[in-house]
Amino acid sequence: MWKKYRRTVQLLQALLITGLPFIRINGQSALRFDIGELKLYFFGTVIWIREFYLLLAAILFMLLFITFVTAVFGRIWCGWLCPQTVLLDLSESLAARFGIKNSKTVRNILLLPITALVSLTMIWYFVPPPETMKGLFVSLPVTAFFLVLWFLLYLELAFLGRKFCMSICPYAMMQNALFDKDTLVIEYDKSRDDTCMKCDSCVKVCPVGIDIKAGLSTRCIACAECIDACSAKSEPRGLAPFPNYKGRILRAKTYWMGGITAAAGMLLLLIITLRPPLDFLITRDQEQLPEGLNRYSWTVYNNSGKTLDLELSAAPDVTVIGEHTLTLKPYQVARGKVLLKASGSVQKVRFTLIGSGISIHKDAGFL
Ligand code: SF4
Ligand code: SF4
Repeated sequence: MWKKYRRTVQLLQALLITGLPFIRINGQSALRFDIGELKLYFFGTVIWIREFYLLLAAILFMLLFITFVTAVFGRIWCGWLCPQTVLLDLSESLAARFGIKNSKTVRNILLLPITALVSLTMIWYFVPPPETMKGLFVSLPVTAFFLVLWFLLYLELAFLGRKFCMSICPYAMMQNALFDKDTLVIEYDKSRDDTCMKCDSCVKVCPVGIDIKAGLSTRCIACAECIDACSAKSEPRGLAPFPNYKGRILRAKTYWMGGITAAAGMLLLLIITLRPPLDFLITRDQEQLPEGLNRYSWTVYNNSGKTLDLELSAAPDVTVIGEHTLTLKPYQVARGKVLLKASGSVQKVRFTLIGSGISIHKDAGFL
């Protein structure tokens, strides 16, 4: 029965999404966007907002991945993994466990705590769970975000529900353009139509209310409920279910699209993990200072999960005036200014940031 596998996949997905904010690497969430500092904690490293090329690469990878999955597996995302489907399926199967099938009222009551948890989970991807829980009903922004998200999620799931998949979802609209004749779909076997019992069990269970016997519909979310319902009727008679998965997964398109997607994913991971542990930027300030004096603004980004002790020096023939040592906590950014005094004729200076096994040089002009 497909339902068993689908529920297992959905539960694992729900556990993963809810549990991820609790996983901590080097003292920070495994995956969280820090709005205050505009940086993304990403499994032990940090991606700063200024690194927009990484964001573009990630978007490109996601587009490739979505195209590949849709072209090969059809609407598998919609029926098996989409949070919208998962939440509705879980609330409906919980309602069924209470012995009340097809009751919208019970489902909607169950959706209240479920959407509250989803609302909290969404905030945990921006504010760490302990801080969220401390701020709930104490801090105005956290409480307001929680209540507004909860309200909107509840309205969407309870009153729009599956209609969202059929009318609003942009992914549902674009995916049919990616289908080809071998894409995995659920199809009714028309050649055996004369042996079909026409019991309409497949129609009654369909969450989007379509009749698979009438042919492939763009509204079908490939949930396989109709296969299970039909199996319950046809298997006791020694027949295979009339609706079933149809398509070819292993074909040339799978290999070349899968290969390109995997290569793009690996390249993205390599770019992220092979970045230097530290980024050092320095520019000369455009200001009028006495002869032989120049001021510079510097920014140091610690991309690693380690504390870095660093010292800033400059050469040749210049003296650094002011504080030139700094300690950077994991994933911290530090900004400051430094004054240089020349002891001769200097046109160019070389700054060196050294310490904790790192040595970085940057050149800048001197007037
Ligand atoms: S459940 Fe199966 S046997 Fe019954 S109408 Fe649907 S396809 Fe035919
Ligand atoms: S036709 Fe079958 S697979 Fe498609 S949405 Fe309905 S029950 Fe799910």
